[in-house]
Amino acid sequence: MRTVSVFGATGSVGLSTLDLIRLNRQAYKVVALTANGNAADLARLAIEFEAEIAVVADEIVYPQLKAALAGTGIEAAAGADALDDAARRGADWTMAAIVGTAGLKPTLAAIEGGKTVALANKESLVSAGAMMMAAVARSGATLLPVDSEHNAIFQCLGGASLDQVRKITLTASGGPFRSFTWEQMRGVTPAQAVAHPNWDMGAKISVDSATMMNKGLELIEAHHLFPIGLDKIDILVHPQSVIHSMVEYNDCSTLAQLGSPDMRIPIASALAWPGRLATNCQPLDLASIGNLSFEAPDIERFPALALARGAISAGGAQPAILNAANEVAVAAFLSGRIGFLQIAQLGEAALTGYCPPIPSTLDDLFSIDAEARRYTARMIEEMVNGA
Ligand code: NAD
Ligand code: MG
Repeated sequence: MRTVSVFGATGSVGLSTLDLIRLNRQAYKVVALTANGNAADLARLAIEFEAEIAVVADEIVYPQLKAALAGTGIEAAAGADALDDAARRGADWTMAAIVGTAGLKPTLAAIEGGKTVALANKESLVSAGAMMMAAVARSGATLLPVDSEHNAIFQCLGGASLDQVRKITLTASGGPFRSFTWEQMRGVTPAQAVAHPNWDMGAKISVDSATMMNKGLELIEAHHLFPIGLDKIDILVHPQSVIHSMVEYNDCSTLAQLGSPDMRIPIASALAWPGRLATNCQPLDLASIGNLSFEAPDIERFPALALARGAISAGGAQPAILNAANEVAVAAFLSGRIGFLQIAQLGEAALTGYCPPIPSTLDDLFSIDAEARRYTARMIEEMVNGA
């Protein structure tokens, strides 16, 4: 029996992970499940999966969690330190599926345990890539990519040396506004932006897919996970989301990983790695799909792609600034305070307007993240108040 913890258990990736564990209950023992403020759902899941501990990040809902778990023998805890402590319980396999850099500390705590960490929480890697990869090297942890593209690349590499790789191609659906003009994008609503044509995901990543910032963040993610040089990582729009990414070897042989657009497939691959797990996902039916198409990304209409490439090329604090500004801007868009096109504008403004020294410690990084958020919030106030 393998011990597992799921951070961000109530979210889209977390629930998909628990779906797979539900199918194979006898193989896994659940240690920790966590959520932000949804104590009722978290308690329900903790009881169903007989978790050792349930943790909410938001301390305000702690009494609710404690009451819901009373008499079950399941521990209840709350707050950021409790999340880190839960990660230190050292499950054999931890799913890092908190959204945003809120997931950074618990993910690092799990990595420091030296076991296996399945990483969905791309914002942590974007923001603290060098530090996270150094922690992986130090602890000997196994970091398994869950993001469908990176999981595809990992599968196509099959342990091959990166010296043998000529190019990595990240595929992108292009999101719901792939064929929209700039003018059409100006007026889109949050409801339109979260309605992804292929994938059913949390609100933040759905907006990121619509701006294509998601692919920008994934470029940075790929750069850290598969360091072959940025010039060797391409982005290709593939609207059907069937090919999840590709690896071209030096002999010009290209391997691709294909599957239905269902996150349970890459999650299952990470959960069972190096084995395979039977899932009840939809098998791929290429005859009914008929055609796979491809096009170059349009960086004029989707400036987030160029911002992300520029930020990781510049290095230092830039990826953390772009990520933080984007998190704040997406939240402002989702709450109706700013328009869709302003999301990338805010990312660009934060990158050019806030230039801290290169972070050398995690504390440096956290203060840069916090200041980039304040900077972006101030710019949003100016936009909203027309100052
Ligand atoms: P989601 O919004 O559905 O779920 C997020 C989870 O994190 C929830 O359990 C929530 O309670 C928790 N959470 C939110 N804020 C928190 C905070 N401040 N502190 C602690 N916990 C907090 O998000 P999601 O779509 O499941 O995405 C999770 C991560 O996986 C993101 O980084 C996303 O980019 C990545 N990812 C998601 C998908 C997908 O299909 N959903 C695909 C690839 C990568
Ligand atoms: Mg992805």
